[in-house]
Amino acid sequence: MLAFLTCSTEGCGKPTTDVDHIQSIRERSDLRLVWANLRPFCHSCHSRHTARTQGFASGRGYEPTFRGSLGTVGANA
Ligand SMILES: [Zn+2]
Repeated sequence: MLAFLTCSTEGCGKPTTDVDHIQSIRERSDLRLVWANLRPFCHSCHSRHTARTQGFASGRGYEPTFRGSLGTVGANA
């Protein structure tokens, strides 16, 4: 999954720390672990994206599903 090493926000280029679900897992829990339904973000872009799409700005209480594990992959590049 080499495409997942950096944030998907155009012009950002930071290492991936968070993964966003393109189809909400509330609606499509079966796609929770499907790569095609995941989009890589750095933490700051993911917070912005989540605030926009889910209507809360702080990100307080939000636990990124894959945080940490993908960051380790990026460190080896
Ligand atoms: Zn970013």
